[in-house]
Amino acid sequence: MKRLLFVFAHPDDESLFSGTMAHYVQRGVQVTLVCATKGEAGEIRDPSLATPDNLGTAREAELRCACDVIGIENLHLLGYCDSGMDGTPENDLPTAFIQADPDEVRLKLIRLIRDVKPHIVVTFEPQGWYGHPDHIFTSRYTTEAYHQAGDPTCFPEAGSAWKADRLFYAALLLSSFKTIVEYARQQGLDNSDFDGVDFEQTQELESKITHTLDVAGWYEIKQSVMRCHRTQFGDDNLILVTPRELKKSIVEEERYIQVDPPLNQPKLQHTDLFDG
Ligand SMILES: [Zn+2]
Repeated sequence: MKRLLFVFAHPDDESLFSGTMAHYVQRGVQVTLVCATKGEAGEIRDPSLATPDNLGTAREAELRCACDVIGIENLHLLGYCDSGMDGTPENDLPTAFIQADPDEVRLKLIRLIRDVKPHIVVTFEPQGWYGHPDHIFTSRYTTEAYHQAGDPTCFPEAGSAWKADRLFYAALLLSSFKTIVEYARQQGLDNSDFDGVDFEQTQELESKITHTLDVAGWYEIKQSVMRCHRTQFGDDNLILVTPRELKKSIVEEERYIQVDPPLNQPKLQHTDLFDG
């Protein structure tokens, strides 16, 4: 059985790549999702759904809802707290993920990799999509753990060495969101979530993409996964309400960079993570 391990930081990060997850679950691949935090620093769209004190519990339930929709049976929470966006007070909390002891995080991830024995590991690209500190740290720690898990001299107490075949970075092209922000402007809808987003910043990232998966067939599942995250995405959420033809590049394609082993011909696009 082929095994795929995704490592993300918050409940809802998986939603943007849930087409890939559903695709492989359907093909009989064992998909495991690791989430570093419960997203405690997220916003609460509807105060009837959660309070700041119980947001983590609510978001864990939302993540379990998403896993049920996708068909993921193996979910692991690393147990850290959301560090918040860069420059917010949550950055300094002792329980924040970015304050955690690096060896402790790597040990947890190495233990998981050696236990799950994935053939493919996927995490954020190093810029963390839009610079969220938890995304950046997750990318860094997962990359280190991917390499160290295969070295029997690293953390021997964390089980027998397991070298996964490939490491991928999930790439989110902010430029893809331009069309929905434009739609919001035309319709007079709130697009403040995208205030300050640099839609052009991803050109360099785009040139590194090695794999683009067509996930159009998983559109309804992806919409349902987003709807699980009620505290984050209300019924008026811009991605949810934008007509499908204007958000094709967000909802019908998911992009990846194969980082290890590096590909000789990065220009040649592959359509399957197990291919190339
Ligand atoms: Zn996130």
